[in-house]
Amino acid sequence: MKAGTWGTFKQQRMSNTKQSEVRNQVPVAELQTEVDQWINAVGVRYFEPLTNMAMLSEEVGEVARIMARRYGEQSEKESDKAKDLGEELADVLFVVLCLANQTGTDLQGAWERRMVAKTARDAQRHKDNPKLG
Ligand SMILES: [Mg+2]
Repeated sequence: MKAGTWGTFKQQRMSNTKQSEVRNQVPVAELQTEVDQWINAVGVRYFEPLTNMAMLSEEVGEVARIMARRYGEQSEKESDKAKDLGEELADVLFVVLCLANQTGTDLQGAWERRMVAKTARDAQRHKDNPKLG
């Protein structure tokens, strides 16, 4: 994909997606709202940002443990085999969404800006990388 065609790609992706699938895709902005409502209803209040930063490290560590042991060279303990990678990734996302909410970050806008920038920056970069060939 050439730089500048990201919007076209997104449009094609949407048109190739069944309408029922589109309804099930939740934009990042809605996830931020869902987390905010959950925090207010269940979590009482947000942890302080630095606490959440530590929580993010903890959750990333849980993902790393699964990756190293299930997909990497470390052996996986029997007690870890029921751990769900998707759920641990969701834990990471939850804390990221908390940090975005409590710092007034529009993650949807940031995501869209970064994808445009990454597409422009990496238009040839990965194609020209012989390690990926
Ligand atoms: Mg976790």
